[in-house]
Amino acid sequence: MFAAVCVAAQEEDPLCVEVTLTGTGGGPVLYNGLAAHGTLVTYGLKSKKCRGVANLQFDIGRGTTLRLSEIGMQPALPPARTPENQLTKIFLTHMHLDHTEDLSTYLRAKWLFSPVAAAPLQAPIDIFCSKDVTSEVRGLFLAPMQPPSARVTNVTTSCQGLVAAASAEVTGSGELAQRLAERPSRKSGGPVDMATVNTFEWQNENLKIVWEDSANNITVSAIGTNHIPGHNSYRIDFPVGSVVIGGSSSNDISDPNNRTTSASDQLLALANGADILVQSVIHPIMKDTGNTGAAYPLDFFYRQTQAKDLGALAQQAGVKTAMLSHMIPAVGAPFWGAWTIPDVENPTVAGPGLSFRDYKREVRKGFVSASPIPKIIVGRDLKSRTIPHRILKVANTQNLNASSRRVHLL
Ligand SMILES: [Zn+2]
Repeated sequence: MFAAVCVAAQEEDPLCVEVTLTGTGGGPVLYNGLAAHGTLVTYGLKSKKCRGVANLQFDIGRGTTLRLSEIGMQPALPPARTPENQLTKIFLTHMHLDHTEDLSTYLRAKWLFSPVAAAPLQAPIDIFCSKDVTSEVRGLFLAPMQPPSARVTNVTTSCQGLVAAASAEVTGSGELAQRLAERPSRKSGGPVDMATVNTFEWQNENLKIVWEDSANNITVSAIGTNHIPGHNSYRIDFPVGSVVIGGSSSNDISDPNNRTTSASDQLLALANGADILVQSVIHPIMKDTGNTGAAYPLDFFYRQTQAKDLGALAQQAGVKTAMLSHMIPAVGAPFWGAWTIPDVENPTVAGPGLSFRDYKREVRKGFVSASPIPKIIVGRDLKSRTIPHRILKVANTQNLNASSRRVHLL
């Protein structure tokens, strides 16, 4: 009886997945109000904007919280708004600030309002990321593609360290003590108490499931990819389709003379048959900036996926839609940080900045066959794409858990 109701309801109001780019700025550069990297992947009923069963945020760079607020997602809310309007999990690709900078902003807001927020929002949010990785890092800026003798330092990248620092500002400023004195019902540790860190071993040989909602048939898997140590790419499988978050991945071989593509081999496997792939890209114009001023460091250039190689990967993997994000440089930017952007037609002179068409044209250069042709979306903040609604089989509807049944029947 219940299953029949569900099926009837789903025909009118099916479950769907929506992918929203919450920030498309590439790297720590500040430009024209763009938020830094982040992608929201949600799953729920069409009538709820595909939200409410799972609202998963992948990276949370500068400005993410503002972008989320523009689409109704908040760290603290009244009870009636919680299932569709709150993040349920946060996944981090790597420990670069343009991917993590708003985590403390999010946790601070969650902590401030937690005593009066809806009950689900008073609990800490799960954050998923690599365990600490200690590795050799070579000195940058010594010379392009510096020799092995360049300065080498052991560095530990630590997601736990990042989260532990979330209370640092309010502790240092005295606001933590002030706020606790005003309202002792706030958690005493401050914003850090609003997060639960779930770490997993970083490795690039095996795909591993890092979070699973078996009641709703959702899995999030991770595999290590090259960019900096500890960097992961993710695949999210829903009953209605799959989304892959490449992050800032690049090929494991950093030397451009010893590889055929700047794209990650692990990402190629991970993206197999995915409905939507979101990936950082760099335009080859960044290799030529020395013609117009300071040269963009080649080690920075080669640790990103070039737009053309993303096109090849998307086609080889059979991806239906590739969304470009974290673009270096941003569309329309005549300069990117300290680097002047050359004219795309004549790299010896400064140009007006790249267009959406310039990026698409570059991606298409990577296509090697007439079909299948992936749809290419050149990202801008809050650009979204929905996986086409599909009617679930009865077997799947019976697996919806209690909370989503409630959502479903509203
Ligand atoms: Zn990075």
